[in-house]
Amino acid sequence: QPIDLSRLLESIVSSYDATSANHRVTLSTPESATIEADQDKLLQLVHNLVGNAIKYSPNGGTIDVSVTDEDGTLVLSVKDSGIGIPEEALPYIFDEYYRVDSDAHRPIKGTGLGLRICKRIAEAHGWGIHADSVYGEGTTFAIYLYSPIATNQPVHD
Ligand code: ATP
Ligand code: MG
Repeated sequence: QPIDLSRLLESIVSSYDATSANHRVTLSTPESATIEADQDKLLQLVHNLVGNAIKYSPNGGTIDVSVTDEDGTLVLSVKDSGIGIPEEALPYIFDEYYRVDSDAHRPIKGTGLGLRICKRIAEAHGWGIHADSVYGEGTTFAIYLYSPIATNQPVHD
């Protein structure tokens, strides 16, 4: 169903910002951005990404959530300044049960399912999902929302 992404993110971000003592969570979005999505799945996707951003920033820091318009495609980004991901691990992070084995990652526990689920949700909507990272500096996840509403593409039948 049509969802106002800006409003949905406002409520998620403010609740994380209020409950995370060592992290600040910020939001930057257009005034409104309507997309076609399964709301529960979209919530799960954003919670997984923001949850990871906090979890993999053990020294605290800022998590920036944003929606930008890149040539008619809405891009939802979650950017952290946490431990980062070594370049050689990046191709595997969306694999089921894959967990990065680095000195910084080892003490942080998990199952390796969250990103697999994110990828499945993105693909079910026809969205792209991409990670960029510098080990020791931080990570940005981007969701490319190829929504017929978001991009105003003509509908043919
Ligand atoms: P869970 O199933 O509880 O989410 P998880 O967090 O280990 O467990 P994923 O969310 O699938 O699993 O992430 C896979 C791996 O990618 C993580 O184990 C971690 O090594 C790495 N990773 C994911 N997000 C980040 C991030 N924001 N910063 C650094 N590493 C990350
Ligand atoms: Mg996770």
